[in-house]
Amino acid sequence: MHSINNPEGTSLHGRVALITGGSRGIGKAIARKLASLGASVAICGRDPELLQTTARELSALPANVLFRRADVTSFTDIAELVHSTESQLGPLSLLVNNAGIGGPGFGPVQEKSEADWDKVVDTNLKSAFLVSRAVAPLMIARRQGDIINISSLAGKNTFAGGALYCASKWGLQGLSGCMAEDLRQYGIRVSVICPGSVATEFSGRGLKDATKVLTPDDVAHAVAMLATQGPQSFISEIHLRPVSKP
Ligand code: NDP
Repeated sequence: MHSINNPEGTSLHGRVALITGGSRGIGKAIARKLASLGASVAICGRDPELLQTTARELSALPANVLFRRADVTSFTDIAELVHSTESQLGPLSLLVNNAGIGGPGFGPVQEKSEADWDKVVDTNLKSAFLVSRAVAPLMIARRQGDIINISSLAGKNTFAGGALYCASKWGLQGLSGCMAEDLRQYGIRVSVICPGSVATEFSGRGLKDATKVLTPDDVAHAVAMLATQGPQSFISEIHLRPVSKP
């Protein structure tokens, strides 16, 4: 019998994936990729209309798709999201902590407020703890699963105007590494992906030169690689860069 960590090479049939922030951008591309490989997918976000539109697109694949309005900074929302995912789609074996924000995370540190800090750190870092805390006991009981955290090269580097965003992503790096050590004894792999700039609406800093940045599908491909690796193998961290320099 195949392990659910790699059922049949590149197929994800039988697997249930939860992608936070799956309504647009990178999360949407990840949901589409995992669904195209046969997984059932659950997506969440705060905008219910956008979620419904995205879920309708995903359902055309065909795939079992669940969408639910949930704010990943709220433990109550997360508990309901995880419960409805398991009761409607089946046992969760793949979690992608993708939801994140950029806007208030950028700008000189001396101009940032405590509210900016709370918003960025809660959305980009605390959320990964909260959602993983809700899902890990279920995976531990089944002795299998993948948790993939979408960090950033900003979690490895520093730059002017990036203090709050970098702090949230450096924190996510530390959280991911420690979670990996806590959970590997139960057959659970915790991996982190650090993309460079990706062409999405995220930064709010205007359009990027699309030829010199990554696409959401590039990140989705990396997620699929992690989810389909052999059951004995554990890729812990991926640094993803565009071929052309930005
Ligand atoms: P987008 O802004 O395009 O999408 C963000 C997604 O997260 C949306 O679905 C949004 O839905 C959701 N989201 C945001 N806040 C919350 C919340 N509190 N609760 C639930 N869902 C939430 O961003 P990207 O796709 O570009 O970014 C995705 C991830 O990739 C982030 O973690 C980001 O830091 C990381 N990243 C992005 C890079 C880039 O250049 N774009 C580079 C490297 C990493 P809604 O607003 O409706 O809640």
